Amino acid sequence: MNKNTSSQANDSSVSVRGLVFNEPLLFEMGSPGRTAHSLPKCDVPEVELEALLPAEEIRDQIENFPELTELDVVRHFTRLSQWNFSIDTNFYPLGSCTMKYNPKINNELAALPGFAHHHPYTPEVLSQGSLQLMFELQEYLKEISGMDHVCLQPAAGAHGELAGMLMIHAYHAAKGTQRKKILLPDSAHGTNPASAALCGYSITQIPSDGRGLIDPKKLEAMMDEDTAAIMLTNPNTLGMFETDILKITEIVHKKGGLVYCDGANLNAVMGETKMGNMGIDVLHFNLHKTFSTPHGGGGPGAGPVGITNQLEPFLPVPVIEHTKGQYRLNTDRPQSIGKMKAFFGNFGILLRAYAYIRSLGPEGIKKVAQMAVLNANYIKASLTNDYHLPYSGPSLHECVFNDKHQLKNKVSTMDIAKMLIDYGFHPPTVYFPLIVKGALMIEPTETESKETIDQFIAAMKEIARRAKEDPESFHDAPSLPVVSRPDETAAARYPRLRWKPA
Ligand SMILES: *Cc1c(COP(=O)(O)O)cnc(C)c1O
Repeated sequence: MNKNTSSQANDSSVSVRGLVFNEPLLFEMGSPGRTAHSLPKCDVPEVELEALLPAEEIRDQIENFPELTELDVVRHFTRLSQWNFSIDTNFYPLGSCTMKYNPKINNELAALPGFAHHHPYTPEVLSQGSLQLMFELQEYLKEISGMDHVCLQPAAGAHGELAGMLMIHAYHAAKGTQRKKILLPDSAHGTNPASAALCGYSITQIPSDGRGLIDPKKLEAMMDEDTAAIMLTNPNTLGMFETDILKITEIVHKKGGLVYCDGANLNAVMGETKMGNMGIDVLHFNLHKTFSTPHGGGGPGAGPVGITNQLEPFLPVPVIEHTKGQYRLNTDRPQSIGKMKAFFGNFGILLRAYAYIRSLGPEGIKKVAQMAVLNANYIKASLTNDYHLPYSGPSLHECVFNDKHQLKNKVSTMDIAKMLIDYGFHPPTVYFPLIVKGALMIEPTETESKETIDQFIAAMKEIARRAKEDPESFHDAPSLPVVSRPDETAAARYPRLRWKPA
């Protein structure tokens, strides 16, 4: 797995590359008798643990448990943290994921003791500040999206999709006839069909047209009264605005269907236009994308969901209400789809998004979208001679190239992505959307400077040149990091999370 790491911790010829040391496991380090604490001598009579606790509560000795100093442990974990790639260290143009910088003020606000120590079981009267903050965040998201109501509970975009789909399901059920189908463009993110299927719907794919968009004529032919909703993404996963959106929503509504919009790409349009004005009935936000909250390793994020008035009875409980100067939690809502998450969602993430929106203000929010679009188009225009652009129409905050030119020399999208790591950049999103063979999906976001973007463009150009002149060099790329090309499938399927003595 790790070609530079030898397993002998005490080998004096440890491999070193620059300041990146070979890093053994903690279990392979240490020396008997080392310790990270020094306590004063006990001044009360000592009692054996066995005399105080039942046997089953006392852990067995761990074999070969490493004995280490504080400094051993601190250096070990600090060094490992430096092997990580992060937005605080480098450019991270991962398309669709909106890896913008997360301003530190957001974290500072979330760490204020009044918020951080606020227990979710604290009575309403003593939670007015936190409730007000959530209520106001809902209002801001309503204003930004043009939706009538917002629920903050879902913990991720996909979770917001599920909440939205459940409300659509409840809506049709309340009308007396459940429908069976959801229409989905073939460019959709994989979570979309998964969320629809979880609600028991079958999926019908709408093929994208030559522009990479939904063709209203095709949609009209497919839309029927057994279709519960269309689930589209706007701007779509090619970074393109669905120019026929008004026609699309009209076609679906005419047959009694609803329109779900995946709002993962809101960064391209916020402050400029509102989904609520386009006939969208349900929209999810990804606070960890658009609103600068951290993307954890699969969480915690937040995926609030916005809806129109007709879906209001089905909102998850509790609903935060503001009456007579008091904030209240209403759970007495008989048609509610129920709870999506314990308590109120990922409150710490909601706080960060609130701080972000408040620090930018309406003009700042609009500027974010404008700069995100400008940056992506600058990259797109700069690389069109080097990489193939399968859909050439106008795009917004991201651009999708592929490896068509490089494949002539047997250099694939995966090779290009791996080589970029040697140039100090995180690879873009690869092989998504599925309608683009060998896709390289680049999203710079608004937070990058022209200098950083120029460095990235220069690296991409150099890589295109190398693919022609020295295609062999790609096979071992990347050569600079500690880990080169792990077996990604095995790493995901058979993670080795527990160390066992050999
Ligand atoms: C990220 C993303 C999702 C899923 O959001 P999560 O927060 O990762 O669950 C859905 N659709 C699109 C287009 C996305 O980019």
